[in-house]
Amino acid sequence: MIGAIDIGGTKIAVGMVDDAGRVLAKTESPTQGQRGYSDGLARIENMLRETARQAGGQLRGIGIGSTGWVFPFTGEFGDVDFLPTWKGCNPVNDLSRAFHVSAALENDGDASALGEAAWGAARGKSRLIYITVGTGIGGGIVLDGQLYRGVDRAHPEVGHHVIDASGPPCTCGFRGCWEALATGPAMAAWYHSQPGARTTAGQLTAKQIFEQARSGDALARQAVERETYYLALGLANLIGLFVPEVIVLGGSLMKSVQLNDLRQVIAQGCRFVPWQKTELALASLGEDANLIGAARVWHHRYHP
Ligand SMILES: [Zn+2]
Repeated sequence: MIGAIDIGGTKIAVGMVDDAGRVLAKTESPTQGQRGYSDGLARIENMLRETARQAGGQLRGIGIGSTGWVFPFTGEFGDVDFLPTWKGCNPVNDLSRAFHVSAALENDGDASALGEAAWGAARGKSRLIYITVGTGIGGGIVLDGQLYRGVDRAHPEVGHHVIDASGPPCTCGFRGCWEALATGPAMAAWYHSQPGARTTAGQLTAKQIFEQARSGDALARQAVERETYYLALGLANLIGLFVPEVIVLGGSLMKSVQLNDLRQVIAQGCRFVPWQKTELALASLGEDANLIGAARVWHHRYHP
């Protein structure tokens, strides 16, 4: 079994995953980045020991998926917003030493892409893109079974391609990135900027706006159409650039979106590539997708 660690903004999840991608045991702890790296590392080590004991197998290796920036081949953390004290720290070396096994690290979008490719909705496919839409847009690209990496083996940021240059400002420096237009918070922000938005019980979430749209609210329907359009434009760009076999869609927002509506927008363009052959599929690894992906990081590095 592989020890899997998923490091996110709100929690650190740790578990044991077997060679078929099944979670044998898991636990979690609030991220609490302000408590410092050694505190975080100690908690991770305790959670690994606890879940290994529960699962009762032999620990073969450790896989880590984390929100970026991280450096997969040195094992170091870069500038991660919610983990400022982790910068320059190396959990790959530290955990490898503590448990006497090999360890590997990837960006969490890449980790989930690897998980879905091996054990989920993209199983058997060699060219795929994984996209997760929630409070941000992240993802990973797998070509010919290998994780695509850029210069210095950098992780590409699919959420920051520009959809509308006159759109809202983005944290990366541009305006109108896919992430600035098509996430749940972006959808809610647009809805609440319109006259006639419902605000009686506080601001609606994207999920609630989808519900309002289904019950016939005109402004909510407009927000859903807009959301679907921007989401599909980004997907159409990826189809035009990569023509993958499948785009796997994960994240909370995808629970509300209709795939057929996305396809209708994609069909308006893309006529120079066989876009009909690119399947859109919902992520299939469920709530443990990040943990399972983190375990797959180890397999991909050491047993490809
Ligand atoms: Zn951006």
